[in-house]
Amino acid sequence: MRSAFEQLVLPAECLLCHGLLPFDRSATLVCQVCRHRWRPVVPPWCARCGQPEPSFGLCRICHDWPGALHCARSAVWLDSAARSAVHALKYGGLPRIAGDLTAAMARVSLPNIAAATLVPIPLAARRLRARGYNQSEHLARRLAARWGCPVRELLMRTRDTATQTALTPASRLANVAGAFQVGNADAELPIPHSLLVLVDDVFTTGATLVAAARALQDAGARSIMAVTFGRAVIPDFT
Ligand SMILES: [Zn+2]
Ligand SMILES: [Zn+2]
Repeated sequence: MRSAFEQLVLPAECLLCHGLLPFDRSATLVCQVCRHRWRPVVPPWCARCGQPEPSFGLCRICHDWPGALHCARSAVWLDSAARSAVHALKYGGLPRIAGDLTAAMARVSLPNIAAATLVPIPLAARRLRARGYNQSEHLARRLAARWGCPVRELLMRTRDTATQTALTPASRLANVAGAFQVGNADAELPIPHSLLVLVDDVFTTGATLVAAARALQDAGARSIMAVTFGRAVIPDFT
């Protein structure tokens, strides 16, 4: 319903730059020019967390991750071009833009993805009511359609966390520690022993993904990966 309504009231223009979209691409909300401004994250990177890092010593991002979380990848660098797309997804009221973002995410190479179950990062109930949708769930469902794997909403927020934007990396970790637990309608089924893939919009310091992975690991998950659309260019850990 929503999609048909949008097509009636919205001109076929790019949601980001307002350039006209070709008629035959009306299923997308972002034009080719804007998509080409997204810079893919490419190796060399840390094999585990996907962050470009010196290849000696401990990786400062992932050395203390929960053991089950063995791989995290992001599609594009979170510079101004990608940031405006994430902003439109979260605050633009048009979750259909998730289709454009997952076109980039689907190019991320994750081992054994066809056997995986996708798990969106949940929003707190209050934020979900205010926004009307969970952007990570939209990303997960679009990705699942591309990859041919199921989505299960295994996680819930135990509390409403402060918005992460203004926090230092250390306080981000404290802010989300213990913020997730396994439990909702989907979680009444046993946690699958198959591969679980967390899906979120951005990877900034990894704190949110780590807290979510820890909750899944505590519930018995053995193998967890994560995929996000955006990756912070330089997470400041000083
Ligand atoms: Zn555009
Ligand atoms: Zn790493």
